[in-house]
Amino acid sequence: MEFFPPRGDEEERILWRAVRELEPLDPAFVSVTYGAGGSSRDRTIRTTGRIAQETTLTPMAHLTAVDHSVAELRNVIGWYAACGVHNVLAVRGDPPGDPNGEWIRHPEGLTYAEELVRLIRELGDFCVGVAAFPHGHPRSPDLETDVEFLVRKIRAGAGFAIAQLFLDPEHFLRLRDRMAARGCDVPLLPGVMPITTPRVLAKFGELAGVPVPPEVTNRLMPLADDPAGFRAAGVDLITGLCARLIDEGVPALHFYTLNRSKATRQVVANLGL
Ligand code: FAD
Repeated sequence: MEFFPPRGDEEERILWRAVRELEPLDPAFVSVTYGAGGSSRDRTIRTTGRIAQETTLTPMAHLTAVDHSVAELRNVIGWYAACGVHNVLAVRGDPPGDPNGEWIRHPEGLTYAEELVRLIRELGDFCVGVAAFPHGHPRSPDLETDVEFLVRKIRAGAGFAIAQLFLDPEHFLRLRDRMAARGCDVPLLPGVMPITTPRVLAKFGELAGVPVPPEVTNRLMPLADDPAGFRAAGVDLITGLCARLIDEGVPALHFYTLNRSKATRQVVANLGL
């Protein structure tokens, strides 16, 4: 399950309510994303540290290479270890401001997530995960090249990968097959996000990096003015996706919670997990 670092007292309260409500589901781990600014980065460290110290949950902190020298990255990794966080999702991050803009490496920093994986593994006994892209990363020329880079990140020392959002399970399953064809058998966890409002659906398209399939838009958008109907249909749709993934043998589901618990709890209950 994934959270983002809260931006103030009210968001902090909402986040902690969600954490407490999701704790009884006993997830394998919960993760906290890493933002672009200094204060949001401190909040990732603080939040994962609190999860380690005050809950029964296993925390994972995300870390990006954006605007960080290697010395700063070492420092953050040291803080994670000091707070009791030994699981890190190593992602490169996007250029701040315009995510599609040119990637500019910090003069004393790193260029690819692969190097970040190596750095974290060198620094201690960390379990490291990486990002995977069922539709290919937007900057990659094609899916084959993209999977080659994914496999390199794993060979650099990652123990698992989490897939970016998708709505058609075939894309996820093809990525898993491509990894297997290269002898890469680490767990690939699907990222899933319950679709509760038209805004969440729009965010889904943004994060997935591909347009929302027309069959999904056609099913949900006629309910745009019926919040309860939209939510029920969205939760139902994601329950169906998860059920298919479980049938296909995925080892776990990684929920993007948006710091709320209700929709995730509904999907988990629908699945009888
Ligand atoms: P990389 O693996 O470095 O890949 C970046 C690009 O370079 C790709 O096109 C890749 O194919 C190519 N590439 C990779 N290795 C090489 C190589 N050796 N030579 C040449 N080209 C190469 N962003 C945040 O800011 N904070 C977060 O907390 C966060 N969490 C995320 C969690 C998940 C599960 C996912 C899927 C994404 C997350 N992101 C987050 C977004 C992520 O940072 C962006 O998608 C970013 O553009 C790519 O990160 P990456 O780790 O895949 O980069």
